[in-house]
Amino acid sequence: MSEAIKTDVVIIGGGIVGASAALFLRTRGVQVILIDAAQCGSKASGVNYGGVRRQGRSLELLPLSQRAFDLWAQIKMLIGIDGEYIRSGHLKLARNRDDFGVLEAYREQTRGFGMHLELMSGAALQKRFPWVGPSVYGASLCPEDGHANPRIVSPAFARAALRAGAVIMENTRVVAASRSSQGFELQCDNGQHLQCAQLLNCAGAWGADIARLFGEDTPLVAIHPAMAVTEPLPAFIDVNIGIQGGGAYIRQVERGNCVVGGARGFATDNNYAKPGGEAIGVIMQRLGELVPGLRHAQLIRTWSGYEGSFGDGKPVIGPSATTPGLYHAFGFCGEGFQTGPAVGEMLADFVTKGETGIPVAPFSIQRFGR
Ligand SMILES: Cc1cc2nc3c(=O)[nH]c(=O)nc-3n(C[C@H](O)[C@H](O)[C@H](O)COP(=O)(O)OP(=O)(O)OC[C@H]3O[C@@H](n4cnc5c(N)ncnc54)[C@H](O)[C@@H]3O)c2cc1C
Repeated sequence: MSEAIKTDVVIIGGGIVGASAALFLRTRGVQVILIDAAQCGSKASGVNYGGVRRQGRSLELLPLSQRAFDLWAQIKMLIGIDGEYIRSGHLKLARNRDDFGVLEAYREQTRGFGMHLELMSGAALQKRFPWVGPSVYGASLCPEDGHANPRIVSPAFARAALRAGAVIMENTRVVAASRSSQGFELQCDNGQHLQCAQLLNCAGAWGADIARLFGEDTPLVAIHPAMAVTEPLPAFIDVNIGIQGGGAYIRQVERGNCVVGGARGFATDNNYAKPGGEAIGVIMQRLGELVPGLRHAQLIRTWSGYEGSFGDGKPVIGPSATTPGLYHAFGFCGEGFQTGPAVGEMLADFVTKGETGIPVAPFSIQRFGR
């Protein structure tokens, strides 16, 4: 066995959650090793849709989402690039009166979060967004939500952590972990042996495997959103679009390509997933009805990815129920890219202060029992 490398904190998982935790910890002077089984930012954090929205988040998630909104405003200062982040607005479409009622109720429930939701329907909607199809009943606009390019943002968090002094180990999988009175001992598949005082489980859709090493079973399942991108089209969509009730989403980037998603693909093994032709057909049919300008667009690439889901719409964030010094932040589903920077900051709070100002009780691992 190789000699142990010692550090203050080891972070398992170099997605946007783990990499931002590494960055915030380094800015507070904490020694960090960030370890990833593949490349930092190559899993969900690098292949997602790129939606950076608060609209539609649950009341429990909104304080975290709101803090992330503030951090996204500082993205260039944090990671050195703007990540193609723009506050385009997020427009949530309602197909019928009932769905519009849900949007109206959401606006009432979330007053006080500063989202300034604007509801519109009929002629007013068509006038403001002429590319919306006539079958759309109404919509809710969150003017300051937006989108970004995950392929460049998430690896940039890891690079920023590296510049700030974090040690990064890629293509290195943690295969065993335990805690003794001396702290944590980790074994990696390449023979590396690490010791640390505190451990962060940021292993995304694989986070349940790490939690299980410490006697914590969680009902995490992996899901695989299907994604595609069109050929460059003349600019016509100037907001990030979702649909009440789900089912499809679309954003157009500066080069003209439209990024779309909304149905489920499938796993090919424990690491990779494919969208499948059927899911892509479903997405394009749904979007073609709501945004007619897309009907004849050619797709130039399709893909999918791995994200975790507990089925209750919430991740696990916070201290382990069994092991002092271990903090979990995994099982993020459609919200992890937007909230990731704020989760990283929260984890740095836990490590350096033992607490965080953002309510985390709803995300406790204890909600699944012991
Ligand atoms: C197709 C798709 C579309 C999405 N769209 C959006 C969106 O529009 N907006 C949004 O906010 N969210 C979206 N999400 C969700 C978002 O991408 C994720 O919630 C977020 O990226 C999770 O980040 P993470 O750091 O927790 O996980 P990941 O990015 O998956 O990172 C976890 C890392 O842990 C590593 N790892 C796992 N096990 C080990 C181990 N034993 N040892 C070492 N390393 C390990 C993995 O290699 C991986 O790099 C989408 C997800 C997908 C897949």
